[in-house]
Amino acid sequence: YFRSLEKLGILLNEPQIQAIRHFQGPLLTLAGAGSGKTSVLVCRTGYLISVRKVDPRNILLVTFSKKAADEMKERIAQLPGIDKSITENIQARTFHSFFLAILRKHGVLQDIIGETRYQHIVMKKILREMGLQDTYQPETLFSLLSAYKMQMVGVDQLPEKTEEEIELKQIISRYEEWKNKNNKIDFDDVLLRAYQLLQQKQSLLHSLQKRFLYVSVDEFQDTNMVQYELIKMIVNPLQNLMIVGDDDQTIYSFNGARNDFILNFAKVFPNAKTITLDINYRSTSSIVGLGNEIIKHNIKRKKKTLKATRKNGITPRYMSPKNSDDEAEKIVSHILREVESGKRRFSDIGILYRSSNNNRAILEQLIRNEIPFIEYGGDESFYDHWIVKPVLDHLRLAINRRDFEAIEGVLPTLYINREQGLQYILEQDSVQKKKWPLIHMLSLQEIKDFQKEKIMERLKCIKTFESMIPIDAIQHIRREFYDQFLETNKRHKLTHHKEIIRETLDELESSAKRFNTIEEFLSFITIVMEKRQEMKQQQKDKRKNAVQLMTIHKSKGLEFPVVFLISASEGNMPHSSVIDVERMEDLYVDFKEILKESSALEEERRLAYVAVTRAQEELFISSPMYYRGKKVEVSRFFMSAYPRYEANKRKADNRITKSEGTISPMYAKQETVYAWLCTNGSCNVWQRILSYEEAELKSKNCPVCKAPMEKGSKAILKRQGY
Ligand code: ATP
Ligand code: MG
Repeated sequence: YFRSLEKLGILLNEPQIQAIRHFQGPLLTLAGAGSGKTSVLVCRTGYLISVRKVDPRNILLVTFSKKAADEMKERIAQLPGIDKSITENIQARTFHSFFLAILRKHGVLQDIIGETRYQHIVMKKILREMGLQDTYQPETLFSLLSAYKMQMVGVDQLPEKTEEEIELKQIISRYEEWKNKNNKIDFDDVLLRAYQLLQQKQSLLHSLQKRFLYVSVDEFQDTNMVQYELIKMIVNPLQNLMIVGDDDQTIYSFNGARNDFILNFAKVFPNAKTITLDINYRSTSSIVGLGNEIIKHNIKRKKKTLKATRKNGITPRYMSPKNSDDEAEKIVSHILREVESGKRRFSDIGILYRSSNNNRAILEQLIRNEIPFIEYGGDESFYDHWIVKPVLDHLRLAINRRDFEAIEGVLPTLYINREQGLQYILEQDSVQKKKWPLIHMLSLQEIKDFQKEKIMERLKCIKTFESMIPIDAIQHIRREFYDQFLETNKRHKLTHHKEIIRETLDELESSAKRFNTIEEFLSFITIVMEKRQEMKQQQKDKRKNAVQLMTIHKSKGLEFPVVFLISASEGNMPHSSVIDVERMEDLYVDFKEILKESSALEEERRLAYVAVTRAQEELFISSPMYYRGKKVEVSRFFMSAYPRYEANKRKADNRITKSEGTISPMYAKQETVYAWLCTNGSCNVWQRILSYEEAELKSKNCPVCKAPMEKGSKAILKRQGY
C-alpha cells in the first residue's frame, strides 16, 4: 500500500505511516498546521479499505464544511485501489448533514428554517409583541440561544436570576413555542434533537454503532459539546475513533467549540494512542517561523514547534497602505503584475480577512480591473447589509422620491411596520399620486403624533440631501437617526453589536468619500452589485482560474501558494470588541468577564495563526495606517515582525501584561494578571508572570513554602483613575 502511495508521489514520514497503520481503538493526532493531518486521515481511510478490507459502508468521516467533505472524497478517490463505487459508499459528511439525515429517516420531519432572514422576522414579531423591539437585536438573541444549545442547555434550563435573564428566557421560550406550533426546527436544533433521539431510541443508536465501525473526525479542535457527545455515543463500545486536529486552530468558540476537548482527549479515552506530527510540508520555513512566533504567546495550549521542510523562500512581506482603498489598489496591481508576467495564476492567490466586512474595497478593486474571483460565503453584498441598506435608501429617496423599495427600507427607521406601511402607501398612491408617496403615511389613522413629526422631519432632511455630497449626507443620517437608534439599544449587553454597526457604517463612509454626488455613488453601487451577481454565476465552475476571497474562519484546512492577509490592524485583529475597555466598563466588569476577555484574545491570536499558516510560498500582511478613518497601529500579533516597528520590538514582545487579560486601570477597578499560584492551600503566595520565557516554564516552587506552584490568573485591585 505504502509503495503504491509512493508511486503516486506521496512519500510519508514515520509518524504519518504509524497513524495510517493504526487499526483499532482510539487515536489522537494532535499536530500543528500543515503537518499532514488531513492527508493522514485520507490515506488511513484508503488503508482501511485496501489493506484491512474494511467495508467502505462502515466508515464515517466527519469534517466541518461541505467543501472540506467533498474535497476529502475527491482525495480518497485518487488513492490506489479505490474506485468510484467505493467512494460512493463512504460517508464523508458534516456533523450537521449527517445528523439531519438521521433525524429525517426517523420521523423528525419538521421544516428547517433555513433562511436566517425568516428567523429574524419571527423574532422581530415576538419582540414587537413584547414591546422590546428597541431593546434587543434578533442577531444577538440567536447567537445567545445557539451558544446555550451547543452547550446542551435546554430552554427550560436557561438561567433566570436577574431581571434581564428572565426577560431573555421569556423571549426565547416564545420563539421555541412558535417553532413547535408551526412545525419547524432551526439549524441549531438539529444536533440537540439528534442527541435526544439517540438517547431515547437505544435500538437506533445500536444500529448506528454497528454500521459505523470506523469513525474519523478532522478539525476536531472545533467540535462543540453536543457534537462531541454524539460522536462518543456512536463509537461505543469499540471506540474505533480517529481524531485529528490542532488546539492552536480553535477558532469557533462562539459556536461552542472548546479546545480542551482535544487537549483532554486522552483522559476521556484512556487507551488512546497519541501520534504527533511536527514537520510542516506546506509552507516555507520563514512562514512556519512566523506562525510559531505568533502562537507561542498563547498560554492555554499544548506547546509544539513545527519544523519546516521547504527551504527558506521569500520572507513574509509587510505592507502599510494608507487605508483599505489604497491597500486594495496595491494588492490588485501586484496581482496583475504577477499574473501578466506568467509567474502566477489567479487561482494561486488567496485573500483573507478577519470579517466579511473587511472586503468591500478589495472586491471593488477586483471588479474594476475585471479580475475573476470567488468569494466564499459572501452571500450578501456589503451594500445590502441590514445596517447599510436603510442608509442608502435615504440617499435613493433624495434622487427619486417615488422609489418604493427605498421607501420600504426607510419605514422601520420611522418606527413604522414595513409591510403594512408600504401596503398603505401603495393603496393610497393608486388613488391619488403624490410627489412624495411617503406623505400618505400622515393620513393613516393609527399613526401617532410623534411619528407624524418624524416623517415631516425626515422628508425635510432628505430634501437637503439633494445638494449634499454623499459623505455629508451619510454622516447626517448617522447623527440624526442611527446614533439615536443605537442609544435606545443601550440597555442590553450588545456592545459587540454596536461595535459592528459603527464599524460597518464607518466602512460605508470610506466608500462614499470618493464620490462627489449622490448619483455617482449610487450608480457605482449598482454596477458593483451587478458585477458581483455576474461573477457569482460564473463561480459555479470550481476549476475556474480565480482569486479566492474568504474570511479566516472559512480558510481553515485550506492552502494557497500566495496569501494576502488584509486589514491586519489593531481594532480589527484583535477585534475591538475583544479589547475595548469601554465595553468592559459597560459590562460592570467582574473577574469572570476579564478572564473571558483574555481567552477571547487568545482566540484572536489563533485566528492570526490560522491565517498565516495558509500560505505555501508567499505571504503578505497588510496593515492600513488609517482604518475606517482612524489612525491605527499594526496588529499586535505582527508588530514585532513589522519593519515600521523595528525599534519597538521590545515593546511588542513585552506586551504580555497589556494584551493578556488586563484592561486599562483608567477604567477598571480590577486587573487580572498571569501568575504563579502556590498550590499549598494554606499558603497564599503568588507571583506575577512577567515575561514569555517565564510563562513557558513548566514548573516552579513557592519561594515561601516550597510547594509546587501552578500557572493561573490573579485579580488585583487598582484604584480607579490611577
Ligand atoms: P491544517 O492544520 O491546515 O488542516 P493539515 O495538518 O491537515 O493542515 P494537510 O493539509 O494534510 O495538513 O497537508 C499540508 C500539505 O502538506 C498538503 O499540501 C499535503 O499534500 C502536504 N503533505 C502532507 N504530508 C506530506 C508528506 N509526507 N510529504 C510531502 N507533502 C506532504
Ligand atoms: Mg487539515
